[in-house]
Amino acid sequence: MDALESQIYNEYLRQLPTKCRGEGKKGEFTDFRKVAERYEAVFFDAWGTLYVRDVLFPGALETVQGLRRAGVKVRLVTNSASLSPLSISRKLERLGFDFADGEIFSACAHLRSIAAELGISELFHVGRNESLPGIAEAGLRDTPTPARPVVAITSVPLDEDGSTARIPVAREILSRPGAVALILNPDAGAPLLGGGRCRAAGAFGMELVRGTGAKVVRTGKPFPRLFREALASVGCAPERALMVGDTLGTDVAGGNGAGLDTLLVAQCYGAPEEWRADAELIDVRPDWVAPGIGAGFLP
Ligand SMILES: [Mg+2]
Repeated sequence: MDALESQIYNEYLRQLPTKCRGEGKKGEFTDFRKVAERYEAVFFDAWGTLYVRDVLFPGALETVQGLRRAGVKVRLVTNSASLSPLSISRKLERLGFDFADGEIFSACAHLRSIAAELGISELFHVGRNESLPGIAEAGLRDTPTPARPVVAITSVPLDEDGSTARIPVAREILSRPGAVALILNPDAGAPLLGGGRCRAAGAFGMELVRGTGAKVVRTGKPFPRLFREALASVGCAPERALMVGDTLGTDVAGGNGAGLDTLLVAQCYGAPEEWRADAELIDVRPDWVAPGIGAGFLP
């Protein structure tokens, strides 16, 4: 993780209970299969944990199916605000997963209720064009002239689809008095296929807002709401659930904060122990670390 990523996660952690840091947790290196079945529920992150873009990690499908067969309740808890809840559900189906709609918890799904709290029906969206259906599904109108200065940030805009042209408009709106920036994906970085990392919406949003004076509202991991919703859906005590993810600052910190046990999948780290350097940088520890979720899960 680079300096901007650690700065962003440290800022989230300052706003959250100290429990998020997982003080005393050992980050014990283990095989995924040895721990997952001990829990009543397992919550999976999506990008970097089950897949990157459209490529599944080896064994991801079999692992989810194996857990279900073992009677473990499985949920997807994702910050992927670039896709609407409906689009995520379709993507998972295309990849071969069998998550029902009620088993998917996405930060993008909070947009409707956040808009209701703010009393708005329109806003300006900045992010990739593929994110636009999520705005419409939340019953909101995307316009460069919103009645109130509210900007929703779902993803990092791209030159390829022309969405970078939205950046100066968003800056202008965010500079108005009373402006609000809704950051729907707090992830600061994301792994790429073949190694390396790219900026994610949390970092883009923070740079966009810098110096504008806009109020920032964030939802998604590591903030508690998604975990509360996922836990309510499985009806078990937090300590009977395991959060599995590739990002210390969102998956692990959020899971720790919600009282879950946490497992870091190190498949996106170059060397098995590299995660320790990141854990030091933001002072966050998981209960477990596994090289991947696939490794011979099936009983
Ligand atoms: Mg991830």
